[in-house]
Amino acid sequence: MTNRPDEFSLIEQIRRRTVVSDRTRLGIGDDAALLNVSGDGEVLVAIDVLMEGVHFDGERSGAEAVGRKALAVNLSDMAAMAARPTATVVGIVLPKRRAELLGQQLMDGLLGIAAEFDVDLIGGDTNTWDGPLVISVTLLGEPSGRGIVTRSGARAGDWLFVTGALGGSLSGRHLTFQPRVDEALTLHSAVNLHAMIDVSDGVASDVRHLARESDVGMVIDAGAVPIHDDVDGSLSDAQRLHHALTDGEDFELLFSVSKEDGRRLLERSPLDVPLTLIGAVTQEAGCRLRLADGTQTELPEGGWVHSFGDAS
Ligand SMILES: [Mg+2]
Repeated sequence: MTNRPDEFSLIEQIRRRTVVSDRTRLGIGDDAALLNVSGDGEVLVAIDVLMEGVHFDGERSGAEAVGRKALAVNLSDMAAMAARPTATVVGIVLPKRRAELLGQQLMDGLLGIAAEFDVDLIGGDTNTWDGPLVISVTLLGEPSGRGIVTRSGARAGDWLFVTGALGGSLSGRHLTFQPRVDEALTLHSAVNLHAMIDVSDGVASDVRHLARESDVGMVIDAGAVPIHDDVDGSLSDAQRLHHALTDGEDFELLFSVSKEDGRRLLERSPLDVPLTLIGAVTQEAGCRLRLADGTQTELPEGGWVHSFGDAS
């Protein structure tokens, strides 16, 4: 850890300074916010900003893939709330030199995945400058009939599950991943989801977010973590596990359910993607990794923390 203020501590400071009215049902601190609208309606709001040189390499990635990703990461946040995405508002700052072509390619990618998930593009703003490409996407959504799932509902004794497999996404999957929107809604109607988050920072880090917001601890079984084929097969098992825990940008769902619901999911998963039991929620605070011999160690730090002033 560095002494520099990082993304999470700045968000924490903003969160402490923010006073909201009754209309804000859920503010800063989860994957999306929940707002009352007139009548008894509710709307979810999520936002992500992607910057060339930080979140993607402009030369290598291609603007179409970046446009797709900018909406896909928001769709993943909406999935984490078990909500339905509805509409998007997009802000784009384009490098002057390549503005027209980049703008078209960005929108090709963004509109493609918007159509796939039945999301309307309803507005936005574009500017040009001499700096790199920046795209900010705001996504609106609506709760399903069963309400939303937050990060704060995990209970001691719950089982922890993850969809898909983890690690190695920077080899390319971070641009092409499929947001788990349908999977989240299917799970939400099949079982009682206590808490959920999408794995964006690395499961070791995202487990901590769930634990902190739920005021519980968590234990991950080292042997149970599903390691993606994208993780270099020539590495040692320990190194491969470390990648799966900390690489980030997997955009899978991490969630907790009661043991009973957990057994149901193991017997017959309602999903087409793999579902893996990776650990449990504990009364005791802290997040630990349980090794094959039964001993427990601190879950590795790391994962994707944006450090201000960092050149990465
Ligand atoms: Mg998220």
